Amino acid sequence: MVDLIGQYNHIKPQVNKAFESILDTAYYIGGPEVKGFQADLEKYLDVKHVIPCANGTDALQIAMMGLGLEQGDEVITVDFTFAATVEVIALLKLTPVLIDVEKDTFNMDINALKKAITPKTKAIVPVHLFGQCANMEAILEIAKQHNLFVIEDNAQAIGANYTFSDGTKKKAGTMGIIGTTSFFPSKNLGCYGDGGAIFTNDDKLAHTIRGIVNHGMYERYYHDVVGVNSRLDSLQAAVLQIKLPLLDSYCDARRKAAHYYNTAFANHPNIITPAPTKCGTSICSTCDCHVYHQYTLQIIDADRDALHKHLLDNDIPNAIYYPVPLHSQKAYRDDRYNEDDFKVTNELVKTVISLPIHTELEDDQLAYITQTVLNFLK
Ligand SMILES: *Cc1c(COP(=O)(O)O)cnc(C)c1O
Repeated sequence: MVDLIGQYNHIKPQVNKAFESILDTAYYIGGPEVKGFQADLEKYLDVKHVIPCANGTDALQIAMMGLGLEQGDEVITVDFTFAATVEVIALLKLTPVLIDVEKDTFNMDINALKKAITPKTKAIVPVHLFGQCANMEAILEIAKQHNLFVIEDNAQAIGANYTFSDGTKKKAGTMGIIGTTSFFPSKNLGCYGDGGAIFTNDDKLAHTIRGIVNHGMYERYYHDVVGVNSRLDSLQAAVLQIKLPLLDSYCDARRKAAHYYNTAFANHPNIITPAPTKCGTSICSTCDCHVYHQYTLQIIDADRDALHKHLLDNDIPNAIYYPVPLHSQKAYRDDRYNEDDFKVTNELVKTVISLPIHTELEDDQLAYITQTVLNFLK
């Protein structure tokens, strides 16, 4: 699905040099690369505080700890996403409330959100799925009305922009009280191991979180709150510092591949291509609001599973993100849920298929992939 070696080859001399200097000084933890990357990312995102941590799942957990969410608090998130989001809600003994998504964007459904709010609701966690932002304008408005925290799970959309109807532009992950991300190798900004970060413009919250990631210490060996051990190490920070200036060009390369696919599959009776992003009031297909972490088709009136196998048989990597709705997963089943409330997710798990998308795709590869899909469906 991704070509991490091809991407590494373009930056090999810088990465190897940075690694060598870290190995020579043995400054593996908390080296200058970590602070450097933190500052670079704050600038890129135009956010006051970036707090690096060990991975994107930790980032979500630490965000919820930092906000002081407590047992019994209801946290609303989406049914159609990677499990990490709901996992940390459950782990902290908060009450997950899963809701449906929109069919065209795969993102949080606003009507379902309104319906799910109760007096116990404390936070909303929109996931900017597959590389484009959820309807943040509506989500922030609803959160304001009900006095709720918004935690953006931005593991899949770093670098994406969101345009409000008044024309203001913000980077994904910087609109809610907290944003989180993951630097897992296959993410749009990936390191060479695990990594993650938390973003906020709130000084007090940033201070709280800096303690939580470090065993609840604000002063060495004085533990004021229960914390965790969650660090980004120097080697990972060094890779990310080298890759961050390239992120926009990485996103452009993904958009270019997506555009190739969109054109090849346009108006096919069995294929729904990813919806043009609604940015503010306008609708676009190639602007900077989508960073295509995944390129996901919906296959209609055709055998999606047979297509999945056919592509694999033809050496084309492809994946079903996600095959099971979270509300149907053994770990997260709950009698409170009603199948009628998950119509879209229940349908999407049967129709979606994600094609290879990354920074190193060549036109001949794209041609081979699209032809193989089209030959199967004809
Ligand atoms: C990848 C991902 C995470 C978790 O990130 P890790 O770094 O793997 O812990 C969380 N949420 C979403 C939506 C993701 O895609």
